[in-house]
Amino acid sequence: MKGTFPTEHFEGRETPFYYYDTALLRETLRTINREAGKHDNWHVHYAIKANANPKVLNIICQAGLGADCVSGGEIQACVDAGFPGSKIVFAGVGKSDWEINLGIDKNILCFNVESIPELEVINSLAAKKGKVARVAFRINPDVGAHTHANITTGLAENKFGIAMRDMEDVIAMAASMENVKFTGLHFHIGSQILDMGDFRALCNRINDLQDQLERHRIRVESINVGGGLGVDYKHPNRLPLPDFKAYFGTFERHLRLRPWQTLHFELGRAVVAQMGSLITKTLYVKQGATKQFAIVDAGFTDLIRPALYQAYHKIENISSEEPCETYDVVGPICESSDVFVKAADLNKVHRGDLLAIRSAGAYGEIMASRYNCRKMPQGFITEDF
Ligand SMILES: *Cc1c(COP(=O)(O)O)cnc(C)c1O
Repeated sequence: MKGTFPTEHFEGRETPFYYYDTALLRETLRTINREAGKHDNWHVHYAIKANANPKVLNIICQAGLGADCVSGGEIQACVDAGFPGSKIVFAGVGKSDWEINLGIDKNILCFNVESIPELEVINSLAAKKGKVARVAFRINPDVGAHTHANITTGLAENKFGIAMRDMEDVIAMAASMENVKFTGLHFHIGSQILDMGDFRALCNRINDLQDQLERHRIRVESINVGGGLGVDYKHPNRLPLPDFKAYFGTFERHLRLRPWQTLHFELGRAVVAQMGSLITKTLYVKQGATKQFAIVDAGFTDLIRPALYQAYHKIENISSEEPCETYDVVGPICESSDVFVKAADLNKVHRGDLLAIRSAGAYGEIMASRYNCRKMPQGFITEDF
């Protein structure tokens, strides 16, 4: 089965470009709101680093989600898209002074603090403005995620967060400072996680940490469990929606949230991956010694995930219905890693055929580069056609 594309509107357009199916995005957002909305103290923040296309941000903002930022540029993009500061959280191991100042000026909900030196800087910058910044501590829970090594973030060896053994010291330190207010704990164990056991392990860890803090009479207002829910890259047509029921249900069953606490999620990939496709034109079909290549006009400068993480993306020929043949689909960049997929079955490919590289809505357009002095790909939503 193929995805449905307004191909008649694609003809003659400059390629490559991203196409975002807004009907699927809206259905995804409705599902998230339905599942998470069962609890009025649960809040979902969209992790803007997955896709910051302004039109996409706008739709996500309209659906009522908050935002999770990892840079000052992202805070600005969120504010421009209409997200209120009161729904923005800000994480990152290396926040610079201007980024912290921007967060303070926008009265963001919370800085997710990753070190003691960072806490001291936030306190002094807030003092200069006569304000109090809300902070949560990102705790490294030493919980592994069964995903690619480059996208696991919650192990003791990773650079992220504060070690569990330092948790009470940093909370005490924040309590002694005038211009920060400790509000909660933050976690994020990795990305493209499909094994709910990983999230259950996170819940168990948080339960232990909460018990420990309660024994010391430390009150925590909010728990933020980060993001990481994965999508089905193999079957974007059959499974266009991630299993939000299983995901949210895991936290409902296993996390012992106190009645006064709010629970925050930071989903990125799960919100936007499946709605996006990179549309690329076939330049040449080349017969090699042992295989044939479909050489397309998109390269890893447009979508880097296959080259960077050996990620799989399903590819469809949306211009042909002829019987399938086997192709390596490769880009024009002068690097051997510029391969989208090897040995893919595609409807017979001709020069000029448009291919859709599926599930490319997350960590696609936003990671594009100008290497080889190439143009940046444009992003279109359904309503643009
Ligand atoms: C990247 C990131 C997310 C989102 O991760 P996804 O796997 O896209 O859901 C959430 N929180 C933080 C702190 C992140 O860095």
